[in-house]
Amino acid sequence: MTVALRMTALHVPTLKEDPAEAEIASHRLLLRAGLIRKAAAGIYTFLPLGWRSVVKIEQIVREEMDAIGSQELLLPFVQPAELWQRSGRWDDYGPELARLHDRQGREFCLGPTHEEIITALVSGEVRSYRDLPLSLYQINLKFRDEMRPRFGLLRGREFIMKDAYSFHDSQESLQAHYDDQARAYGRICDRLGLVYRPVEADSGQIGGSVTTEFMALAETGEAELVYCECGWAANVEAASTVVSRTPSITEPVALERVHTPQIRTIAELASFLGISDHDTVKTMAGKDADGRLVFFCVPGDRELNPLKAARAVPGVELLAEEDFAAYAIPKGSLGPVSPPEGTLVVADESLRGDVAWGIGANEDDFHYTGAMPGRDFEVEVWADLVVARPGDGCPTCSGALSGARGIEVSQVFQLGTKYSESLGATYTAEDGSEQPFVMGCYGVGITRSLAAVIEQHHDENGIVWPVSVAPVEAAVIPLTVGDDEVAPVAERLWRELAEAGVEVVIDDRDERAGVKFADAELIGFPFQLVLGKRGLAAGVVELKDRVTLDRIEVPLAEAVRTLVARVEEERARFR
Ligand code: ATP
Ligand code: MG
Repeated sequence: MTVALRMTALHVPTLKEDPAEAEIASHRLLLRAGLIRKAAAGIYTFLPLGWRSVVKIEQIVREEMDAIGSQELLLPFVQPAELWQRSGRWDDYGPELARLHDRQGREFCLGPTHEEIITALVSGEVRSYRDLPLSLYQINLKFRDEMRPRFGLLRGREFIMKDAYSFHDSQESLQAHYDDQARAYGRICDRLGLVYRPVEADSGQIGGSVTTEFMALAETGEAELVYCECGWAANVEAASTVVSRTPSITEPVALERVHTPQIRTIAELASFLGISDHDTVKTMAGKDADGRLVFFCVPGDRELNPLKAARAVPGVELLAEEDFAAYAIPKGSLGPVSPPEGTLVVADESLRGDVAWGIGANEDDFHYTGAMPGRDFEVEVWADLVVARPGDGCPTCSGALSGARGIEVSQVFQLGTKYSESLGATYTAEDGSEQPFVMGCYGVGITRSLAAVIEQHHDENGIVWPVSVAPVEAAVIPLTVGDDEVAPVAERLWRELAEAGVEVVIDDRDERAGVKFADAELIGFPFQLVLGKRGLAAGVVELKDRVTLDRIEVPLAEAVRTLVARVEEERARFR
């Protein structure tokens, strides 16, 4: 099918000014180039050219899924509550899950992810180990009522995801398909022109233990990563830490209660005591599921990682502002020495050898110095508690970690039997016994990937698409229209390019050259063939490359062949 578009017929409402609401390049350019429009917070319409790019991303993902033997289907977007109640996620998911009633009062939700519904489907239809492994995928809308939808397509509430689910009769079989999926995800990033890094990650709401996120590297990304030259990399949320500490005081000293008027923060305490903040210990308070008070102690210059806190004490929640009064503890002066009766004290591994802690005294305006674990207080649980950061040791070699920011474009998970057990989804094994399916799931954010591509590929004038994702591959730009010299030649080249298989648009608008050039740069047509009276009189046209910004003069007779060859060369780079 040929793709030959006319600017006069296209709905591509480009904007001259930057929209005020857009903080980052992809959001700004998607709006300005006339690719998307906002319908509500985190909910967008894809306009014709934006939708062409979405479809291209979907097609790349489809090809890579088909290549590893996953089969496409389409699951319902509106899902019965009953399945979510059985998996336990009706309660666990919280307000991100959009719930609704039908006219009979039955409860439903808008799918934020589709583990429940596919497990129920497969459980009803796949009975024997002989039918395994089975891998199924869909490309569908998702709805998550995100607390802070922002950055345009990067964090929407309604968005498009490719999600695949696999069913196995053994961990080995799962591992093999998981590896195939991870390799496919790498190829998808390559074909989208994304510079990326696979990283160790947390499994969040989805569950399971083994998981990898694919991060498109970008300064504007919401995720922080740490990585080592040895190849190890992780999301800081999930990274285990090797914190090296050199405490200043290494000999036992006396415990001393110090009057510290108005001192509430680590920075104030360090400066008041004349020590560095890493010689202080920060205590954060939480409560466990039974309401028991929990103190988390971390080095003063480090942050507590809430995911690690929850791993050390399942069900723990950090105290909200109003809880401090309820527990009668002073927020700015907490510590493990004489805490309220029954408090569970958990401390970061890196504090183990430290002799003397500078720490809160559980009374406003007082702190302790020289507090020694084992002598002055007890630590019940030692755990890795802090957020990893550049400069920490690599957990797998002796290197030091570097930092980067990224956009999570996709994630693969080994789920094990979490969903098959809760939903009672079993198959008959070779020995005749009933076994729960061993499962994996794999998600690519289609619309987030589009934004990530633009984050990585733009300049001050607009989008610089990898040809694989560009809405169209080339534009023919006649500098005059409605005349006998330029217009007919432009129309002919446009038709010939389309017939040669190039996706091409002709800018047949009666606009000034400057307007046409600006739109061509903004929308980012990868190749632009510019035709003017003077050039044609000399038998040449200009070929512009949006990536290199090179402009070359090409004899008119060679124009189509040259452009087709360049397009094919570029396509090959992303195949
Ligand atoms: P995040 O941590 O960014 O909220 P997530 O880990 O919850 O994302 P997954 O459940 O792993 O997301 O979903 C798979 C993919 O779907 C993500 O890798 C991402 O590309 C995409 N995605 C998730 N949430 C959103 C969103 N709010 N807007 C756009 N895409 C999203
Ligand atoms: Mg994820």
